[in-house]
Amino acid sequence: MLGVIAKGIKRGRQTSASPLGGPLDMLAHGQAVFVAGRGGAELSTLSGWQVLDHWPLMRNNLCRYYAGTLMAEVTMELLAPLDPHPHIFEDLVVSLQMLGNSDLPSSARVVAAYVKAALQETGYWPILEHCVLCGTEITTDVVRFVPRVGGIICSNCRPAGTAMALPSLVVLALARLPRPQVMKEYVSQRPADPQALFLALQLMLSHLECTLDRAMKTRTLLGMICGCGPTMPETAVANLGVGLEKSVVHGAGMLPDGQIESLA
Ligand SMILES: [Zn+2]
Repeated sequence: MLGVIAKGIKRGRQTSASPLGGPLDMLAHGQAVFVAGRGGAELSTLSGWQVLDHWPLMRNNLCRYYAGTLMAEVTMELLAPLDPHPHIFEDLVVSLQMLGNSDLPSSARVVAAYVKAALQETGYWPILEHCVLCGTEITTDVVRFVPRVGGIICSNCRPAGTAMALPSLVVLALARLPRPQVMKEYVSQRPADPQALFLALQLMLSHLECTLDRAMKTRTLLGMICGCGPTMPETAVANLGVGLEKSVVHGAGMLPDGQIESLA
């Protein structure tokens, strides 16, 4: 990630071609030429830009554009300036390509795959295989995820903070979800389960927000991205002391097996 300033880029000789070869805005993919900032300066100077893809199909669909903005925010939150992560960049480009594909059945599935890949690549992936506190294997149908401790917990452990209750099948499907670069090779035509994807993304974004201690601006778009509608309950988070039953999100406590499978 790099901060640049387009200092004086619109000036120059009248006869010369513009150094900006296409639009330069959020989610545009292209090649930038820049002069690195001296002496630890945060901003480099942009001297040229050639757009490679502007993803017009994604921009013509509000849901897909929201999906792209959420991925952009996740990327900006996870990466530090001048710390290259070529694999995340490749996953982001592939994800945007898929959002620009008119045959794509579910943009939420792509977003979930990208957020998962970004968390794994940066070392922030939560522990979902066993209780994060005592290591016990969890075999219940509903599991509790505690963002503050970075994983799922068993019924014997009572950490401070809030927990999110969700079907274990959602966690299993999330663990199986492939990277965007793998997903692109076999875009599933099966309809995705909006609620399962909604819960999986809620889990990952809750974890990200707790890790960074910041709220994400695009999190409110999740309902629309997943196709649950803007009226979907914002989170399935409840205080641990309230009890498990009350902390299960409305209507999403038990999803049929076949639908959960569609997450992956
Ligand atoms: Zn435990």
